[in-house]
Amino acid sequence: MAELAEYRNLIGGELRPAASGRLLDAVNPATGEVFARIPAGDRTDVDAAVAAARAAFPAWSALTADQRAGYLRKVAALFREHGADLGRLETLDNGRIVRENLPRNGPGMTHMWTLAAGQTLEAVTGQTVVLGPNSLGLTRREPYGVIAAVIPWNAPISMLSAKAAFALAAGNTVVVKSAEQASVSVLRLGELLVGVLPPGVLNIVSGLGAEAGDALVRHRGVNKITMTGSTETGRLIQRAAADALTPSIFELGGKSPNIVFADADLDAAAVGVTRTSVFTGNAGQVCVAGSRILVQRPVLDEMLGRIRAIAEKVVLGDPLETTTTMGPLVSQAQYDRVVGFLETGAKEAELVFGGRHGAEVVPSLPGGYWVEPTLFRTDDNSLSICQEEIFGPVAVIIPFDTDEEALAIANDTRYGLAAGVWTRDLARAHRFFRDLESGNVWVNIYRQTGQELPFGGIKDSGYGHDRILEFTREKSAVIAT
Ligand code: NAD
Repeated sequence: MAELAEYRNLIGGELRPAASGRLLDAVNPATGEVFARIPAGDRTDVDAAVAAARAAFPAWSALTADQRAGYLRKVAALFREHGADLGRLETLDNGRIVRENLPRNGPGMTHMWTLAAGQTLEAVTGQTVVLGPNSLGLTRREPYGVIAAVIPWNAPISMLSAKAAFALAAGNTVVVKSAEQASVSVLRLGELLVGVLPPGVLNIVSGLGAEAGDALVRHRGVNKITMTGSTETGRLIQRAAADALTPSIFELGGKSPNIVFADADLDAAAVGVTRTSVFTGNAGQVCVAGSRILVQRPVLDEMLGRIRAIAEKVVLGDPLETTTTMGPLVSQAQYDRVVGFLETGAKEAELVFGGRHGAEVVPSLPGGYWVEPTLFRTDDNSLSICQEEIFGPVAVIIPFDTDEEALAIANDTRYGLAAGVWTRDLARAHRFFRDLESGNVWVNIYRQTGQELPFGGIKDSGYGHDRILEFTREKSAVIAT
């Protein structure tokens, strides 16, 4: 058997194995086979990474906005050159289809790092306030210091970028803790970053959440945390960070409503509630998945027919094939969790279509973690399939009659990450934007995001945004004139 590639952490500008020498398996979710090994970093590696980030901070934060922008443009250029390879590697690691991962990690990340480069000036701009005839107020922004970025597996490179590009743009240095289920693409990025950024400015440590993750978020050398992942882990991190009072940004789970009114463009809505939302290239493992499809009763049958027709066209299979439109779930654990919900759903609601899973769905790749697009139907939003985040290609359709009813069902969730509204009524669209308890609202479109806008949740979906000014703190002075 060929030797498996062994990846290393990026610490202080050097590629280093875990100090303990321990490794974790990187599993290809389309086959269930181990294809590489990644470091099982722990407290020792985290200590080294935070020390490197602290050491790099004075020089990095002293650069001018223009000098920092120059470095970030170099990272953007790196994505222009290597984005496609990084995308393919990420597909091997987390199963998201190449059709999504290549544009995302090539042009998408080039754009994101270029955008961050264009914002560096914002972080060094303050206010002048005339307080009275003899006093002048001034504000100045400064970077926090070391930012800990804890990222999930469903989009490792773009999550690293959304956090690190803007934290670095503001003059911070960064330690990234990658997710144990999918670290290979970001560790490969770490190899490419050697010599591009000054040593210690961006560090990447792979390891288990309970070891490397916990050590990082408790670390007294960390000045702010930004984490994307599940609500449960967000709570653990908030508790762990309490002793040091470390401020945090949390982008957590969701159970987003996608609301279709009878007056909507049903062609667009049918795509928006399926391929764009839950029946996606990474099998609905999308934080903003519109996993509750609310449909106004007069168009319910019409929408059911259209949704079924789209689901039947989903091509589930090898995510490295460009003809594939949906890949596997990321891991055995995620597969077991989703299959559990398929079983619960079949007991508590009506199965409209789908529900098959495992080798039966993709016989040519029997070791993969396959679940086919699945739709349940119910009138009862209190069911667990309506309240729990499933994180798979599984949605529930819920009929409604009035605007008030739609809003009540939409907001009847502990989460508040995203919501979609499909209508031609402009006033209704604005009312729903105002009244939906959700950090992000889409109208007649779904899941388009961009770092140009704040992206984040409310309620159990977290708080804060990975934006440049949130990686700065403000201080003020009053000067007697
Ligand atoms: P997770 O919460 O298990 O893990 C996220 C990260 O936290 C991983 O790097 C993990 O190692 C780390 N971690 C785990 N325990 C930790 C601890 N005790 N201390 C410090 N770090 C720890 O989530 P996941 O399974 O990787 O991702 C799935 C979840 O993430 C879903 O619920 C999904 O909605 C959410 N998600 C949200 C967004 C968003 O933008 N809001 C984006 C992607 C995923």
